[in-house]
Amino acid sequence: MYKDTRLFIDGTWRAGGEGKSEEVYNPANGGVLGTVAHASQKDLADAVAAAGAGFQVWRKTPGEQRAAVLRKTARLIADRSDTIAAIMTLEQGKPLAEAKGEMERVVETFDFNADAVAHIGGQNYDPPGGAFRQSVQPEPLGVAVGLTAWNFPAILPTRKLGPALAAGCSMILKASEETPCTAAELVQALHDAGLPRGVVNLVFGVPAEVSSYLLAAEPVRKVSFTGSVPVGKLLAGLAAPGLKRCTLELGGHAPAIVCEDADITAACAALTGFKFRNAGQVCIAPSRFYVHDRHYDTFVNAFVAAANSQKIGDGMDPNTTFGPMANARRIEAMEQITEDARARGAKVLTGGKRHGNQGHFWEPTVLTDVPDDAMVMTEEPFGPIAPISRFSELDEVIPKANSLPFGLAAYAFAGSSQTVDYLADQLEAGGVAINAVTPMRPDTPFGGMKDSGIGYEGGMEAIDSYMHKKLVSTGI
Ligand code: NAD
Repeated sequence: MYKDTRLFIDGTWRAGGEGKSEEVYNPANGGVLGTVAHASQKDLADAVAAAGAGFQVWRKTPGEQRAAVLRKTARLIADRSDTIAAIMTLEQGKPLAEAKGEMERVVETFDFNADAVAHIGGQNYDPPGGAFRQSVQPEPLGVAVGLTAWNFPAILPTRKLGPALAAGCSMILKASEETPCTAAELVQALHDAGLPRGVVNLVFGVPAEVSSYLLAAEPVRKVSFTGSVPVGKLLAGLAAPGLKRCTLELGGHAPAIVCEDADITAACAALTGFKFRNAGQVCIAPSRFYVHDRHYDTFVNAFVAAANSQKIGDGMDPNTTFGPMANARRIEAMEQITEDARARGAKVLTGGKRHGNQGHFWEPTVLTDVPDDAMVMTEEPFGPIAPISRFSELDEVIPKANSLPFGLAAYAFAGSSQTVDYLADQLEAGGVAINAVTPMRPDTPFGGMKDSGIGYEGGMEAIDSYMHKKLVSTGI
């Protein structure tokens, strides 16, 4: 089932021009799954040329046909989703049930973007005086570059491919070299659904080399990246000389506040479930917990019980609820974060160490008595570590929740409608969920504030971000 991943350029799969490749590993056992080809400069130049030619074809393709290709892609992916989910679990580690859930979101997202094509439209204006008419005509920007991380190998590329193709742009996708085969399956489905050659191209390589080449290329008019804040800022810098538009979906460090009047049973169930999903490698995962004194002991006990009840193992085992971390870098980060907290006086109630002697497993970890300046409270942990703090007054916790440069997601559990409204107003985050841990959906826009990003993915807003609105004025 698992294949070596090649480059997809101008409608054809090919090896890297200089014969370079790297190995892809299974994070559950460290075994080599296959290889991923690296693009040479010539391959990247070919991808840019193909995407330029593909754009000229796709921008003139009627909307109904663009929608039909996206809809067919959704059906093909639905048919293949068990296979793609297994590929995802092999290369990324998440439990198979989570991978299958991610594939359902991929199908919904292609379907949403197919339907949304019909809603792309211009607008007419009749300025006073009657001397001329004006219309706003949306046009696709051109060649877009999509760059995606490894934590959601299927939905992250889909949230770029779907709206770019709906808008009429072509795309060069550089998915993560650590999870390449899942992305290749998506691209194959688009090809099989009848997407004209050149409209989507898939490349891999040394990320900094690929992005600096592609963002400097003249036909490229747009970049959309999902990944860490430092890389997002680097890419914004690369995009600046050519004033290429950016959508940046970056990291977060979501506070979760449990108020005095919260339904504590619901809060515990929702937050423990979300925290340990994908071994905590989720940009919107709750990652700093502030719990009112009244519920503190109950909440801590529930978190420890949830951590201890995880079935840790290979994601391919149907009994597994908690898989490995995606790569060795995350284990090193978990060690560093935990040691820093310990050194500052935190208590490790459970976990806090590697699990087993093969693969990249880290035990679900619960920390208490963590000072606010500990690394786990200030840097995105991107892992299954839950630091839990207590508070007495809501007004003292809001400034803490808003104190970091991040502003991606925030969660709260509260009873009274006044408190719910107050929290929704006060929390500085691109998405605030109260008495819920709402996932991102294909039809709603989501984007970060502050260092967490620029622009939106999802909804018509995502399609708009791949379009220019041309103002046409016509004298009468
Ligand atoms: P990283 O920042 O080096 O890489 C993140 C992603 O960006 C990877 O897929 C990588 O291939 C890509 N990348 C790196 N440098 C690039 C460049 N110059 N040009 C283009 N793409 C580039 O770090 P990492 O070790 O893979 O992940 C660590 C951190 O990244 C995590 O702690 C987390 O904060 C963040 N992250 C965030 C998300 C998200 O969804 N917001 C996803 C994955 C990782």
